[in-house]
Amino acid sequence: MQRIVEVDHLSKIYGKKSNPVKVLENISFHVDKGEFVGIMGPSGAGKTTLLNMLSTIDQPTVGSIKIGKQDITRMKERQLSDFRRKELGFIFQDFNLMNSLTVKDNIMLPLALDRTPVNDMEKGLSHVSRILGIDHILNSYPSDISIGQKQRVAAARAVITHPQLILADEPTGSLDSKSATELLHYLSRLNEEEKATIIMVTHDAFTASYCHRILFIKDGAIFSEIVRQGSRKEFFQKVIDMQAAIGGGVSHDVV
Ligand code: ADP
Repeated sequence: MQRIVEVDHLSKIYGKKSNPVKVLENISFHVDKGEFVGIMGPSGAGKTTLLNMLSTIDQPTVGSIKIGKQDITRMKERQLSDFRRKELGFIFQDFNLMNSLTVKDNIMLPLALDRTPVNDMEKGLSHVSRILGIDHILNSYPSDISIGQKQRVAAARAVITHPQLILADEPTGSLDSKSATELLHYLSRLNEEEKATIIMVTHDAFTASYCHRILFIKDGAIFSEIVRQGSRKEFFQKVIDMQAAIGGGVSHDVV
């Protein structure tokens, strides 16, 4: 199995030496190609901090993070911005689409920035828009499509460059339950058909139940890990149970 992410003895301390705030302590885990991994934990546990470091927008105080074969904690800022553009795909809670561009241009933007030939852009576009079920809205503008479609457009934009890793931060956070279910269906499809490797931070048990494996973080450390074996519904129950055990989690009653 090809290893995509290797986090090794990671710690993050904010603040001054006289008043240090330890936010993450000695976190180690790895993610293999094609895994769909969730990160959960109570508010303030350190999930965003961890995601920011995986995203290369923040640096650990101690430890290393390898994505693919590259140690991102040793890269200079210019290498990092290249790396982010080519090797990482981002899906945020609030989509971050450009309202003045059509859906098609929004999705192709990362390829255009990389000066990809038009033919290749069109091929990539038709492939990802088919997988995400948005091929019929390519000429629309973000203001003309539903909130669920917006998030699927953001997902298409995140994967069109074939990044090594997709990072999703509360991707269903702004969606109603029907749109959330659709997005999760399409994310699972990306994961299965494209072997996309996804790390998703969520506080929502229903959303998390689509993952194969979930790391629970509490007080800056890994509290436990659960792996999906049976059905998604069974896994949902396991997530709820773990949230109860960890304390401070928010559950969701949609199954
Ligand atoms: P989560 O995403 O799990 O809710 P965060 O990663 O946002 O948690 O925050 C974890 C802890 O780190 C919180 O107690 C937060 O106040 C603290 N924290 C986050 N960023 C900073 C910072 N820049 N300086 C000091 N403390 C911070």
